[in-house]
Amino acid sequence: MSNTLPSLWKQLAPGQKISVTPTRDGVPLSATFLRGTRPGKRVLLTAGIHGCEYCSIQAAIELAAQWRPEEICGSLAIVPIANPSGFAERLPAVVAEDGKNLNRVFPGKADGSPAERLAHILTELQDMADFYIDMHGGDLHESMHPFVYIPGVAAEAVTEAARAAARTLDVEERVLSSATTGAYNAAALRGVPSLLIERGGNGRWSREEVEAYKRDIRSLLRHLGLLEAGDATPPADRQREIRDPVYLEAEQHGCWYPTVTAGAHVRAGDLLGELRDAFGSPLRPYHAERNGRVLYFTVSLAVKAGTPLVAYG
Ligand SMILES: [Zn+2]
Repeated sequence: MSNTLPSLWKQLAPGQKISVTPTRDGVPLSATFLRGTRPGKRVLLTAGIHGCEYCSIQAAIELAAQWRPEEICGSLAIVPIANPSGFAERLPAVVAEDGKNLNRVFPGKADGSPAERLAHILTELQDMADFYIDMHGGDLHESMHPFVYIPGVAAEAVTEAARAAARTLDVEERVLSSATTGAYNAAALRGVPSLLIERGGNGRWSREEVEAYKRDIRSLLRHLGLLEAGDATPPADRQREIRDPVYLEAEQHGCWYPTVTAGAHVRAGDLLGELRDAFGSPLRPYHAERNGRVLYFTVSLAVKAGTPLVAYG
């Protein structure tokens, strides 16, 4: 029996649950596979593509440990720490071995750099799935208001399947993404409906946020038919779709003094924060170009030219 993750998922018997950490091309990667005795969809769940987004990682670890095959219709693959070296080294955004952002190199390459090889393995799993859920959150240096991304660059039916699933989540904002190289975007481009959830941040995790994350994943799996509907009522559809968020970036290196909070409503002209130099002298203020709600912002004092300060829409 081959022990690559895709072949393990393929060979899973009805009623079986396995947790493994195989190594391929020097990359150890943990995964849990569950297959119910009743038929249903195949769903892939990943967390930790960014290794310091702890709420998503902890929620995935707990869900993988808790679920039993008897409660599942269909089959589930859970990769709780998709970027193991970034997690171990506490590196925001990137894979430790090559410094690449794993979420910018999909679909990856079988003979590429470590990040590209990881992306390639995850791509093989995506291609076996009927739906792909990617769990993220604010990184080490980001404060975030929970929201969901759905793929905007994909066949219309794929985007619509993602939108219908996203509506079951307990988040108020849904962003239609125009990106193509993110894990979920690349999957959607190949015809696999997908979404990315953002919850938690600041390099921390709390019981409350992990439970909220788990509720969202359970809602999704009920929607997809993997879990029984039970008596849980889905949240009222109060989601707003954002099609053109503003991703404000720093124009130069400096010290960053934000004046917003995650989830705050801003109006055109409002001060979002100020960049100052090493002597405390103002370099430049940043104002909102238009009305919107703050999705996330950078909390670290240090910012680098070309990196995000505030996202709103
Ligand atoms: Zn992330």
